Parts: sequence; structure tokens; C-alpha cells
Amino acid sequence: MNHNQILKLFPESDMPERRLRILIVDDQTINIRVMHDILKEDYEVLMATDGQTAIDLCHSQLPDLILLDVVMPDMSGHDICKKLVSDPVTEHIPIIFVTSHSQDIDESFGLELGAVDFISKPINPITVKARIKNHLALKLQNDYLRSMAHIDGLTSVFNRRRFDEEINLSWRHCQREHQPLSLILIDLDYFKLFNDRYGHIAGDACLKSIAQALKNMPHRPRDLFARYGGEEFAYILPNTHADGAQHCAKRILNTIRELNIPHSESDVTHFMTVSVGVSTVIPDKTLSLLDFIEHTDQALYQAKLNGRNQFVFKDY
Ligand code: GH3
Ligand code: MG
Ligand code: MG
Repeated sequence: MNHNQILKLFPESDMPERRLRILIVDDQTINIRVMHDILKEDYEVLMATDGQTAIDLCHSQLPDLILLDVVMPDMSGHDICKKLVSDPVTEHIPIIFVTSHSQDIDESFGLELGAVDFISKPINPITVKARIKNHLALKLQNDYLRSMAHIDGLTSVFNRRRFDEEINLSWRHCQREHQPLSLILIDLDYFKLFNDRYGHIAGDACLKSIAQALKNMPHRPRDLFARYGGEEFAYILPNTHADGAQHCAKRILNTIRELNIPHSESDVTHFMTVSVGVSTVIPDKTLSLLDFIEHTDQALYQAKLNGRNQFVFKDY
């Protein structure tokens, strides 16, 4: 599988189609230039001559691979490697150490630190290119597998695991920035009766169409849509206040109505509808995320009691 084929597999494209990015770290600019000349045609090349710049670039540019000189003043390649592999943001970036024959370097130590390979100077351009290509292919496959662990098998939208991770991140982000966080919980109306009437396969198809329609509903890049449970979905809306969240809830109801999925057993209408609970909070240390989710669930429950096919907003 080549790089572009792997990139195309990503369902929730965390990885847009782009040139793969390699960071070269070496205190000698002449060494950087040699590597750069070999790689510039195939890759986007980033460069750093010291450890701190390298670490900063890793955070801001998320390279796909790092070529790291071992012997450097200030921070050594080994120290840089230790920092990168222990940081959740950078831990998945493969590191290849570049060493010189004249230096007495313990290669196994570097591998124990978490590097994936070694390249010795002076380099052979053909083998270096081939090894880099192999490591990048592995890296992309790993990224792909990790992303699949966050995708719901039936509907191809984010799963509960990803929802849990994201709501925790959003909660902390909004707490730091004193920003509102909104949560929308969506539950299909009389879905058990739908399964009973049309069968489980039709039930699955209904869940798929609803998931795709809601996922494709225009939303801001930071918002996250996920399958929350069996016939329940959720939208996490960071930096969104009550008005914006309620506007989104209205659009969700309309999107489902427009699908016109027949549901002859529904007490609401003859089409599939959803009930929606909405809540907004400005998180702070005295509040609990779990209480906030529970509170939004109560808003959803209220929407069911009020007759379904509607949203209820409950201030937190
Ligand atoms: P309400 O309007 O009160 O939400 O009623 P409901 O029937 O939708 O709620 P209930 O919780 O009683 O039933 C949910 C149903 O969703 C039951 C379950 O079989 C169905 N369901 C959950 N996951 C799936 C799935 O993956 N595929 C299918 N086909 N059905 C599912
Ligand atoms: Mg339910
Ligand atoms: Mg339901």
C-alpha cells in the first residue's frame, strides 16, 4: 500500500491529503543540507539546529518522521528523544537517529529510548530514502489503526471511546479559556418499534443514514459528532453558548425530518423523529463533567416526556 492509498483510508480525515513532513535535527547545517537535498523532492522538509526548536516544531507542525542527530551541544539527541516519546502529542512520531562512524555511540541505547532506527553518516542516499519510505508507511498504518479504534463499526462516525476522550479535552479547554461548552444528546424516537416493524437490518440502515446526515450537517471544525450508544448520538460543541447550541438542535431536528424515513409505528408522526437534550456550561473546578452529562440526559428525558420530536434546553 502506498502513502496516498493509506491516506485515502482515513474515514474521519485527521490526515488531509498532503505531502508527508520530515523534520531534520542537526547542529551542523552542512549535514542538514545533505539530507535536505535527498528528501526535498518527495517530502516537505523542516529543519532545526537545536533541541528546543526541534521540540517546538514537533508541536506546531507534527512531522511524520524525525531524523535526529545524536551528538549536539545543549540538548543531546537522546534527551530530545526522551522528551518526545513521553509527550502524548509527539509520542507517535517515529524517530531515526543519525550517527557518525567516528562517534562511539551505543545504538541499542537509542532504540531502548524509543527510536525506530539508526542511520550512519556518511549516508547512502538510496538506502536512506528506502528506509525512510518504509518507516513512513509503517507510521501511516499505525495512525490508521489508531484512528479506526475511534470509529463506530456500524455507522462510521466517531464512537463512544472518542466521545469520552473529546469531552474531557473540551471540558478542560473551556475551563482554561473560561468559554462555554455545549452538549447535545440525540435519541431516536420509538426505535424499538421501528426494529419490531421493519426488522434489525432496516434498523441498522436507519442508524447509518441518520449518523451520516448528522455528521455531514455543517458544523464548526472543533465540534465533534459521535455515536453515544445504541440509538443515541451526541454533539460536543466547545466555545459555543446556549443560543448556538439551540440553533444546532433545531437543525438536527430538521435534518432528521428531511430524511423522511417511514416509521408507521411511531406515535409522533409516520416518519422517524428524534428527541434532543441540550445543555451549556462554563466549566470550573467546582463543577463535574459527569453531572453535566447527566444533566443533559435529563433534558433529553424531558423532551421525551414532552412528546418527542423536539429539543429541550436545560441551563446548568
Ligand atoms: P424512546 O422513544 O423512548 O427512545 O423509545 P425507543 O424504542 O427508541 O427506546 P428503547 O430504549 O426502548 O429502545 C432502543 C432500541 O434501539 C432497542 C434496540 O434494539 C435498538 N438498537 C440499539 N442499537 C441498535 C443497533 O445497533 N441496531 C439496531 N437495529 N437496533 C438497535
Ligand atoms: Mg435510547
Ligand atoms: Mg430511543
